[in-house]
Amino acid sequence: MSQRIFLSPPHMGGRELELVRQAFDSNYIAPLGPMVDAFEAAFAQTVGASHAVALASGTAAMHLAMRLLGIGPGDEVFASTLTFIGSVSPIVFQGAWPVFIDADAATWNMCPELLEEELARCARRGRLPKAVVPTDLYGQCADLGRILPICQRYEVPVIVDAAESLGATWGGRPSGSGAKAAVFSFNGNKIITSSGGGMLVSDNAEFIARARFLSQQARDPAPHYEHSQIGYNYRMSNIVAAIGLGQLHYLVERVRRKREIFDYYCRALGELPGVSFMPEAHYGAGNRWLTVALIHPERFGADRETIRQALEQENIESRPVWKPMHLQSAFIVDADMEPMRPMHNGNGRYPTRAVGGQVAEQLFERGLCLPSGTAMTDADLDRVIDTVRQLHLKGCLRRAS
Ligand SMILES: *Cc1c(COP(=O)(O)O)cnc(C)c1O
Repeated sequence: MSQRIFLSPPHMGGRELELVRQAFDSNYIAPLGPMVDAFEAAFAQTVGASHAVALASGTAAMHLAMRLLGIGPGDEVFASTLTFIGSVSPIVFQGAWPVFIDADAATWNMCPELLEEELARCARRGRLPKAVVPTDLYGQCADLGRILPICQRYEVPVIVDAAESLGATWGGRPSGSGAKAAVFSFNGNKIITSSGGGMLVSDNAEFIARARFLSQQARDPAPHYEHSQIGYNYRMSNIVAAIGLGQLHYLVERVRRKREIFDYYCRALGELPGVSFMPEAHYGAGNRWLTVALIHPERFGADRETIRQALEQENIESRPVWKPMHLQSAFIVDADMEPMRPMHNGNGRYPTRAVGGQVAEQLFERGLCLPSGTAMTDADLDRVIDTVRQLHLKGCLRRAS
């Protein structure tokens, strides 16, 4: 069996291990330490934010943002339905309701029109959401040039889930900028990884200072352990920060390679009938974290799942596009859902509502994330491409006979 090709595995450059050694030599293993400070400073500079706090995960960063906005039981928070669960579980941690907004077919990100309509409807009923959380899907920024002014009009803060979009831009600005705060992730599959971790960034110094405080068990200044609030154990360790800092050095190179991989797939597969790729929005440059193909089953001659299985047979990992949140059985989507109903229905499932959803459903049905690791060679890419091409040929032959 040939070597397994993973979807988006870690890609170390060399500098990471040097920095981990430095951390060992200084015996700043954990918690915190100079690598954490250096990673936060370098990261803030990279994304053009004034302040950053390094955390245990992207999900932890989102949770702190939700807590700091005072989101609690009975509140609503609007989120993208086409996203990863880490984007919305923190809303539920806070006892609030996520309301799922459909994607825009042109960008696959939160649809600004639907958002605007729903905000207007909520304003009429006299109850606005406490926050809007758009996801930057697969490395493409949400349309903040439109989302931010809409939310500003209703005075609803925006927290960007930029977990997938480090190194991307919107309107010439780095991903994650312009909103109240943004969340990044250094999970193992992301464009850079610290082995696991996250970052919360903001231009608001107090917001980040409070996040930092809550992330360290909300320990008040005193020689003994004094707590006037309940916090979390969410900080990043010094060793993990050393890996993250080392990885940051390679970010520009990683984005360049991700985009090159996308172009390679497009050239090789884009001519096949029934194959298209995630479009690039006019308002920015994505980092192409994952190359995502859309498969039209009749035209291609096989559906997305058949392709996925054929790749798996060749020891190649691929994945369907995120299953939309409104289809997840953890939630019960109910158009008549009105706030103030009990949060739980006893089965551990959460009642909520969705605004549209058909675009995301279609993308889930037809979208396939192709291996996009930056350490992949052209020969690796050709292995993926040949498998897809052969499947198409088989479909043609079957139809011809
Ligand atoms: C990876 C990811 C997260 C969560 O990050 P973790 O560091 O794994 O907690 C959140 N949202 C999106 C869209 C992601 O892709």
